[in-house]
Amino acid sequence: MIIILEPDLEDQRTVIAAVRTVAGRYPGVTVKPYEFKGTTHRFGEVHLIGPTAAVPTAPFEGLPGVRQVVRVSAKYRLIGRHDPAHETVGFEHNGVRIDDRTVHVFAGLCAVDTPAHVDEMMAGLAREGVVTTRMGAYKPRSSPYDFQGLGKECLPWVFESAGKHGIRLIAMEATDASHLDELWDALERAGHPTAVMVQIGTRNAQNYELLKKVGRQQEFPVLFKRGMGITLEESLNACEYIASEGNTRILFCLRGVKSHLGEPHRNLVDFAHVPVVRRQTRLPVCIDPSHSVGTSLAAPDGLPDIFHAAAQGIVAGATAVLVDFHPHPEKALCDGGQALRLEMLGPLLDHIRRVRAAYEGSVKASAARRQAVA
Ligand code: PEP
Ligand code: MN
Repeated sequence: MIIILEPDLEDQRTVIAAVRTVAGRYPGVTVKPYEFKGTTHRFGEVHLIGPTAAVPTAPFEGLPGVRQVVRVSAKYRLIGRHDPAHETVGFEHNGVRIDDRTVHVFAGLCAVDTPAHVDEMMAGLAREGVVTTRMGAYKPRSSPYDFQGLGKECLPWVFESAGKHGIRLIAMEATDASHLDELWDALERAGHPTAVMVQIGTRNAQNYELLKKVGRQQEFPVLFKRGMGITLEESLNACEYIASEGNTRILFCLRGVKSHLGEPHRNLVDFAHVPVVRRQTRLPVCIDPSHSVGTSLAAPDGLPDIFHAAAQGIVAGATAVLVDFHPHPEKALCDGGQALRLEMLGPLLDHIRRVRAAYEGSVKASAARRQAVA
């Protein structure tokens, strides 16, 4: 059972104490308060855990400061959108606000290779006014003989270059809990010129020990990539693992699913799930068109398949895009075939802006229609 408090309560503690007192009447029921930052409001919830089936809702509904009481199954207790009117719970990290209102493009190298390429990429982002990027240092590869990433060795110069070009947030995968410490140490040593959002890759979507570790820390928000061969429900449950350990700052990323039916694309694009994730959860949604389609080839209209796939996600309400770029794709040590050239950054941003405007226009028109009927 979830007791939802009025938003922006000044004296939340008193309300929580009153809920505790009432809950104390029911043996075995424990109380866990939470606070979330929605897109425009801060709101609290008190979760009642244990044998709540026989606990009535009325005594809680009557308390001042309580807005609503909902009975939920254990599923998505923390990440779930228990009421359609609930806001998306985003987060802010190093001055970058991730929510469902502003689109952020994390364009960058699939795998960090040389300081010169990293710097060229960061400079290209800065020219376009982009402050978010992706940089893979720890690469989970299908073959043990493929380039595995430079690991912690590259962190000092990646962070330095990011700071130099005003890049505020880097999506960077961690494949082991020890990488969290390495990332934090490197940021500390560099004096935090930038910040990291830790990426949990598709291959680790059900690595529960790693999920618990990223859930137990508060230094990094988490970019969770859906498991490529598991159901959406299983992927969302994995996010619930992270949240249940204490870290609710999660950006959920769709990246295509493994199915030969997607060929000749690398994966089957699953961006029709954007509205599903938004309906079922309060998480902001990211899309990764690069790992979905796996090629930088373009359609006869001149737009790369990656642009077309990105449009599918943006027009469905996604507000973050993770996309592979490389200043010299032919020299990339990982996924060069799907990396867009730097010259395509401006056009991609322009394309995304146009598609987002179409989406916003459509949402507005739909709201106006509903208001006219009401
Ligand atoms: C990546 O984004 O670098 C990556 C490896 O993606 P995924 O985990 O989705 O395959
Ligand atoms: Mn890749």
